[in-house]
Amino acid sequence: MLVERLERLMRTEEYEAGLNPAQWEALRYLARCNRFSNSPGALTAYLGATKGTVSQTVRTLERKGLVTRAKRPGGRRSIQLSLTDEGERVLSLDPRRRIGPTAATLGADTLDALRLGLRTLLHDRIARRGLKTFGLCRSCRHFIRLGAEHDPGGPHRCGLLELPLAEAETAKLCVEHEPAPASA
Ligand code: SF4
Repeated sequence: MLVERLERLMRTEEYEAGLNPAQWEALRYLARCNRFSNSPGALTAYLGATKGTVSQTVRTLERKGLVTRAKRPGGRRSIQLSLTDEGERVLSLDPRRRIGPTAATLGADTLDALRLGLRTLLHDRIARRGLKTFGLCRSCRHFIRLGAEHDPGGPHRCGLLELPLAEAETAKLCVEHEPAPASA
């Protein structure tokens, strides 16, 4: 199958670039998730791996100086994971970026069709397995657009967590995301 062959080749390039595929996935996730979703538990749910495997992945990334672990402010036992500057630098060399220039030659219509098709397949598997969606605020049922317009942390609001959301935060992956009826 085409996707399988492409995936295998990309994984080979990931190993050649010095990290295993799970380590690359963890770095990508931590770069893209919001402040409510950077915990070991959320990373485990996103990767769909066992707790032990993810713990091992995080320990290796810490040892390599790519990720740090700290107590979450205000959370009694909660841990937050963050990329270090070196983690950001390594991620900028992500071998998956090499596919970008070729993808750009496909043209907007092909890329849109590809995106739609892959998204449909992914959502179907997520729904059938009852997994978390990890979407963005704009497709979430809890998103209140301009719900905290006068709050310094706004202008938007999360109705579930009852917190203001800055514009930039709405473009991050969220472990609490639940599809809005129109986008479900
Ligand atoms: S609105 Fe939804 S996606 Fe955004 S922070 Fe709240 S729960 Fe997460």
